[in-house]
Amino acid sequence: MQCPFCGQEMQQGILSGDGRSNVCFKAGDKKTGWFDSMMGTGKLTAVKHTLVSFSIEAFFCDRCKKMIIETDIQG
Ligand SMILES: [Zn+2]
Repeated sequence: MQCPFCGQEMQQGILSGDGRSNVCFKAGDKKTGWFDSMMGTGKLTAVKHTLVSFSIEAFFCDRCKKMIIETDIQG
């Protein structure tokens, strides 16, 4: 995906965290072990939960320091 701000190719990766440590972004590798069925009403559909953590597929522009998340809100 190209950055809508500067046009540079964005880095695809996984945004993840567990509520105790910092939210982090890891390029490339998919984080595994989550359950789609954990998602509920009002949550971003891109968020994948486990019992203790979450992960979101995201694109990061290193030049603009911006992130794009493809998601929807469940109503
Ligand atoms: Zn950019």
